[in-house]
Amino acid sequence: MTIPSRWSVPIPRCSLQQWIFGSACGPVPDCQAFIDPEKPDTNYLTMSNYRLLSKRVALGLLKAGLRTGDRVLIFSGNSLFFPSVFLGVLMAGGIVSGANPTFVPRELAYQLKDSESSFLFVAEKALKTALEAAAEVGVPSDRIFVLGNDTMSAPELAQSSRPTPGVKGRIDGARHWTELLAGNVSEADSWSWEEPSNPEETTCCLNYSSGTTGVPKGVEISHYSYVANGVGVSHMHGLRPDFTEKLKRDRGLAFLPFYHAYGQTYFIANLPHLGIPVYVMPGFDFLKMLEYIQRFRVTMLPVVPPIVVLLAKHPATRRFDLSSLESIGSGAAPLTREVCQEVEKLFRPSPATGRDEQLFVRQGWGMTEVTCTAMSWDPNTPVRGSGGVGEVYPNCKAKLVSLDGRQTPVERACERGELWVTGPTLMRRYWRKPEATAETIVVDADGTRWLRTGDIAFVEEYKPGGIFHVVDRVKELIKVKGNQVAPAELEGILLENPDVADAAVVGVTINDEEMPRAYVVRRPGSKASERDVAKWMEGKVARYKQLKGGVVFVDAIPKSPSGKILRKQLRERAQKEVSHA
Ligand code: AMP
Repeated sequence: MTIPSRWSVPIPRCSLQQWIFGSACGPVPDCQAFIDPEKPDTNYLTMSNYRLLSKRVALGLLKAGLRTGDRVLIFSGNSLFFPSVFLGVLMAGGIVSGANPTFVPRELAYQLKDSESSFLFVAEKALKTALEAAAEVGVPSDRIFVLGNDTMSAPELAQSSRPTPGVKGRIDGARHWTELLAGNVSEADSWSWEEPSNPEETTCCLNYSSGTTGVPKGVEISHYSYVANGVGVSHMHGLRPDFTEKLKRDRGLAFLPFYHAYGQTYFIANLPHLGIPVYVMPGFDFLKMLEYIQRFRVTMLPVVPPIVVLLAKHPATRRFDLSSLESIGSGAAPLTREVCQEVEKLFRPSPATGRDEQLFVRQGWGMTEVTCTAMSWDPNTPVRGSGGVGEVYPNCKAKLVSLDGRQTPVERACERGELWVTGPTLMRRYWRKPEATAETIVVDADGTRWLRTGDIAFVEEYKPGGIFHVVDRVKELIKVKGNQVAPAELEGILLENPDVADAAVVGVTINDEEMPRAYVVRRPGSKASERDVAKWMEGKVARYKQLKGGVVFVDAIPKSPSGKILRKQLRERAQKEVSHA
């Protein structure tokens, strides 16, 4: 038995850019799309400038040789211009791949190579890494564009007809991104992108995820799926009784990264589509976040669990006026109901707080493989009992299957099983990895494609609207502050160490935070210490992937007769070891 969503909502068959802007040349809502919170009066993009700048990037890329279906990698933190680069690529018929700007050259080179990206946009701060990776993979310097260090404010830059709008300082080995704009304002004004004839089969995005096993893989999301995700988000937003009034006062604050599906779908697509202005932070800074909520009367706050923990525990939370907040949504990793309740205490209805409604921390569940979100709470439903990640998203379906490998349906309330989901937001496939796709997507007798999520869940009631709880994982994935860490990637690197004969990496939870912990078999005669092994990883992977959960030497890695690492056994051992430490 499957659990369908309570809502079936029409999905327009168009490109993502068409869905966001309505058209290439017609009127767009007269509102701000992205605002620099440090210079809110002068540095912002209106919806109209957001579209114009995106079209100018598209024209520039076409002139630089981008062909339909080419991949363009964006290696940058958040900025006012990231969304225009993203949409410019789509308007030119390309595919965007986002990468974490803290990657080391090896990690970036892997993604550049795997996606066969032919253009690279890079934040000024990350240029050194980018040039090293690009040289290894062979991306030519005239196809590397540096974001940042602009001499003009955003509105001036969007409208500037100067041949090259200018940049502070010299750039060696790459070009400044504004070179793409080269005086093409009037041309862009009247230019229309070509709509994809088949949005279901036209990939727009290639974000990376390790899925249930192995190393990171490109997740092919079509224009249609991206729009379907946005339609779901808009529908949930529109369930509020005061929807129209709410839209007028809504403000978003973006510190979640635009290279990850969560930040990307919300801030580049969904909020601009709804006409909700977004204050863009270059990265996460807790005190600045509090300051901006107070100053700009931010209403909606999508976050990841460590931020909910900070809101609950950090003394500064109580020093700021957060009364404008109407919703806090958390996703990407587990979060206990107790922590949510701590935060909710700050938002009780009373004359003192000026609220007539309780604010709930609503959890949602999603995966890069389903564009972003597939479950969350109806905004009108109070979060009850022990919480959970909400109900199935519009147009999607879920089911639970037994964990014994036989995949028999679990149909009793509160019984655990592996979560499988389907719907229009489901990825097309993993990029050039048919075997991984076939292992992850199961086609049933009716021809429905189901995503095996690798998450263990139960549902309170087996009916539409039933509330799901995600309680564990059967997959290898480790989540560090919402970021994916693939054990297979770390194991591969550990095995390159001459002191290491075998290795397995699992996640361990310490103080409510998951971190990677390695079990290592030393080569005979090796004198390396645990610290040496942990240190050896430094510089080889981004900081969030470091072995902060520790390194433990063992005689042998537990494996099944077929040689598969017995991860469950190791995870249980790891958890016991750290709780007794
Ligand atoms: P990503 O593809 O990076 O978004 O990671 C997806 C994975 O994050 C899911 O398969 C879950 O393991 C985990 N995840 C996402 N949301 C939640 C949640 N609300 N509670 C527990 N785990 C979650």
